[in-house]
Amino acid sequence: MKATYDYLIVGAGLFGAVFAHEATRRGKRCLVVDKRSHTGGNVHCREIDGIQVHWYGAHIFHTDNRRVWEYVNSFVPFNRFTNSPLASYEGRLYNLPFNMNTFYQLWGTRTPAEARERIARERARYAHIGEPRNLEEQALKLGGRDIYERLIKGYTEKQWGRSATELPAFIIRRLPFRFTFDNNYFDDRYQGIPEGGYNVLVDALLQGIEVRLGTDYLAHRDELNGLADTVLFTGCIDEFFDYCFGRLEYRSLRFDHQRLDTEDFQGNAVVNYTERSVPYTRIIEHKHFAFGRQPVTVVTYEYPDDFAPGKEPYYPVNDERNSRLYERYRTLAENCVDVMFGGRLARYTYADMDDTVEAALRLAEQTFA
Ligand code: FAD
Ligand code: UDP
Repeated sequence: MKATYDYLIVGAGLFGAVFAHEATRRGKRCLVVDKRSHTGGNVHCREIDGIQVHWYGAHIFHTDNRRVWEYVNSFVPFNRFTNSPLASYEGRLYNLPFNMNTFYQLWGTRTPAEARERIARERARYAHIGEPRNLEEQALKLGGRDIYERLIKGYTEKQWGRSATELPAFIIRRLPFRFTFDNNYFDDRYQGIPEGGYNVLVDALLQGIEVRLGTDYLAHRDELNGLADTVLFTGCIDEFFDYCFGRLEYRSLRFDHQRLDTEDFQGNAVVNYTERSVPYTRIIEHKHFAFGRQPVTVVTYEYPDDFAPGKEPYYPVNDERNSRLYERYRTLAENCVDVMFGGRLARYTYADMDDTVEAALRLAEQTFA
């Protein structure tokens, strides 16, 4: 008997929404389910006093991929927001990423030559470190003690819930050093926030597609499987397989959203708090993502949190143990007939939004080739 739908798409996040759109555009019948009460997954926004509040953490779209940029802009125009976060350490403010402004604030160096010379001196003190064995060694070797202690150590240890000497070096191997006065956090060619917020993008992707919210696929697996020929699963891969090899580890977050009767709380969208003694890692002021002029503001304090069942799995812990465990699940997934896996949770990876959109487009192209 022919099923009611060609595709059951589990998860109305960016991956599920892009795939559902592409399948529907090609004449396929799709049903999207999500256990949350809204679509969009982690890019979901809530409007408070005309301000789009990034409900699951700040989301800044940035990409070098022209095709992906044009794709998302075909659904909603993006504004010209550029992420230029500040770091607050013991009452002083520093620009990020590490650039000439930061070096001036740290050491008073005024020219690229002075800053390079200063960093070379810092690095020379740690020349005895060969191949860095952990994040602390990596950071000292890259930028020296001032940068490490004021801008990296506290933030990183809070974020990951363990000492920098127990963390893998690769987490900060990509820290950019820039010898210009440029506070743009990203090097990508394209950057911005959808006008009206991310819900406009997700609503446009899912327009005309049946979506059932508050529906946990794993709690109704047999019944839902019977509705469609093929399943696309974008939830946690270990949960899909009933944790048969054990649980993958994640890092979670707790968001404290506050509406304040003030026009401007911090004058910037993102301020990181890099000392260990402050319990949150950053404060987001959402109106600055859209250059809002409302008389009130909404801020979000972001607290790192240990993951436990029932909490949101935000960051995969891609250390050796977890990577090996994931590989075992991946092998199981490859042998699953009629189920496809995609998105950050099923792939157990940190993926930016542009990578997510690109991967969903690629899966659609392969599937409908
Ligand atoms: P998700 O958005 O997680 O969607 C998966 C969906 O599946 C969820 O809605 C979930 O409820 C649903 N689901 C799971 N299991 C089930 C089930 N059993 N039944 C039904 N539904 C289920 N990227 C950037 O490019 N720029 C940024 O600034 C940025 N900031 C980020 C900040 C944070 C704190 C985090 C965690 C991520 C950030 N990202 C950013 C990455 C971005 O969030 C992801 O690229 C994107 O959201 C991934 O989409 P997804 O569909 O794979 O996953
Ligand atoms: N980081 C840091 N200080 C900062 C910001 C970031 O040391 O002020 C380090 C930290 O280890 C973090 C990593 O850089 O986990 C990546 O941070 P990024 O802001 O790129 O990623 P996000 O946490 O926003 O996903």
